[in-house]
Amino acid sequence: MSYIDLYMQSELISQGNKEPIIYIFGIPFDSTTSYKPGTRFGPSAIRQAFKNIEYNSLNNGINISNATIKDLGNLKFTVNPQYMLDMARKVSNEVINKGFTGILGGEHLITLGTYMACKNSSLVILDAHYDLRDEYNDTKYSHATFLRRIVEERGSDNILHIGARGFGDDELEFLKSSKIVSINSKRVHENPEVIKDYLTTFNEIYLSIDLDAIDPAFAPGVGTPEPLGLTIKQFFDILAILQERKIKAFDIVELSPPYDNGSTSVLAAKIILEMIASRL
Ligand code: MN
Ligand code: MN
Repeated sequence: MSYIDLYMQSELISQGNKEPIIYIFGIPFDSTTSYKPGTRFGPSAIRQAFKNIEYNSLNNGINISNATIKDLGNLKFTVNPQYMLDMARKVSNEVINKGFTGILGGEHLITLGTYMACKNSSLVILDAHYDLRDEYNDTKYSHATFLRRIVEERGSDNILHIGARGFGDDELEFLKSSKIVSINSKRVHENPEVIKDYLTTFNEIYLSIDLDAIDPAFAPGVGTPEPLGLTIKQFFDILAILQERKIKAFDIVELSPPYDNGSTSVLAAKIILEMIASRL
């Protein structure tokens, strides 16, 4: 053994050397961010937070210290949305075929690339926004339009949207005309259990977590904060309900470290922990 093996530390969160429970990779893309920039630093911040939390899961009653995690690093940096989407789709296709995958954003546009690699998965989205604009800030490919592009390509069957509270009339119109199922934040506040009724036909799920679904009081470090969001308790209750189904892959997007006090990145790390714990 050399001192390089002994003392040099990787920024990645890989651990263990058995068959991986989870594959992780990051997409440091934020070129279309319209309000609080910095989500390109999301993957690094989530990894740092993950290395600084305890590895026991209260929800699942288990410790993940012995779980094998394979962190593949980040997608090549680009400011070009089309190039990022092309890379994201190809890499996701390869990685998701290997096994359970967690993807670290980046802004929400990345999901247009990563979800498209999951041909048989339903899409569950947690987000304060619908991201259903036809165009935003003069581009068709934006964090605010990604879901519209998905619906255009794959239809709206097998999509469940949870947590909306900030949207435009044009988005609401498209939501209704394309019959996307939405449980807005008001309905979550009344009873988070209602989502169970909508999951019965969902065999395999791709879960996209826009951290702004959670209230800015708990998760201030996001690209587009929006009040009246989910509490941490509601969020993890919903996650537990979703984990009863088969989650094929998930992404955590919109963490903007320059606007974070640390609590949002730790929350993201905790989500990864619970995702791993539910698989052990
Ligand atoms: Mn979003
Ligand atoms: Mn959002």
